[in-house]
Amino acid sequence: MLTIIINKGYGEGMTLHRAALALLSSSLLVVAGCSATEQGDGSEAPTSDQAAAPAVVEGPSVVVTTTILGSVVGNILSCAVGSDASMTVVMPIGADPHDFQPSSEQVAAMSTAELVVANGLFLEEGLVSVLESLETDGVNVLHVAELVDPLPFVDEHPDEHARDHGDDHADEAADERAHGDFDPHFWFDMERMALVAELVGSELATATGVSDYEDCGVSVATEIRSAEADVIAALQAVPEESRILVTDHDAFGYFADRYDFHVAGVVIPGGSTLADPSSRELAELVEVIERENVPAIFANTATSSDVVTSLAAEIGRDIHVVALFVGSLGGPGSGAEDYTSMMVLNASLIADALTD
Ligand SMILES: [Zn+2]
Repeated sequence: MLTIIINKGYGEGMTLHRAALALLSSSLLVVAGCSATEQGDGSEAPTSDQAAAPAVVEGPSVVVTTTILGSVVGNILSCAVGSDASMTVVMPIGADPHDFQPSSEQVAAMSTAELVVANGLFLEEGLVSVLESLETDGVNVLHVAELVDPLPFVDEHPDEHARDHGDDHADEAADERAHGDFDPHFWFDMERMALVAELVGSELATATGVSDYEDCGVSVATEIRSAEADVIAALQAVPEESRILVTDHDAFGYFADRYDFHVAGVVIPGGSTLADPSSRELAELVEVIERENVPAIFANTATSSDVVTSLAAEIGRDIHVVALFVGSLGGPGSGAEDYTSMMVLNASLIADALTD
């Protein structure tokens, strides 16, 4: 049986792949795994074959920071037959990972976990110091974005950059990652997320001695690659000259790199959602949008779209403003209830906005 504990804001009726969820009185959600049966009170119903079944291997307690990683890791855990795992997803549905702050209960759950799966590369800004001190205390924290050949943010000032960093490559790399020069939004490249599924499966197998986790990581990766074929098919509708993205913040570098788009500009500078654009930066962006005849501006379901909407009002023609699922899954009925659905939905929203 896989038990999933999710922040209260997670949303009623949310479904994870292969699992039926029941919302209990508080934040505790229990998911029936491959063989167990779930009851409304969260206890596991006895099944006829349970008495004869071999002893269940006590599974790992896994804590995952973002809902997007929670979807993928939850699929790996629920696929492993005979393990009794529990997973806690720290962020609620709709949270912006850049400005989320954990509760003390969540930090306590992380401190006793066998494995913490974090995005890393400074995505979870409110968790950086918590994760650092957990690691100092010996907690196994997997920062997945660092493991899949992360891309740097596109540097607008390469000359200054070279002067600042000098020649000491090892220190330089560590320093850059600590300060957020690498782009954390790797999940917009589905091949990188497939690799993360394999890495998490193999880490779980090593940590527990249950080889099923490794096989499950591979099978979840295969599902992600198959969904990516749907994403690529949906994006094929967008002609070469319309493959232009203007987004609320700098989150689509991996998407552009993998699926052949061009990021013409971002509304909020700096790779996070936490900064404010200056009026000069907004005026420059309006110029770019008009010069490149950009068909749409993409907002973010997890943040206010006020700045994006007022930017669109500055454009001297009609322009689509479309909210994408960027740093969080969507709630029930959104069509973005799990990672692969979210990516397929984003692809079709992008294709529609750029082909109108
Ligand atoms: Zn972001």
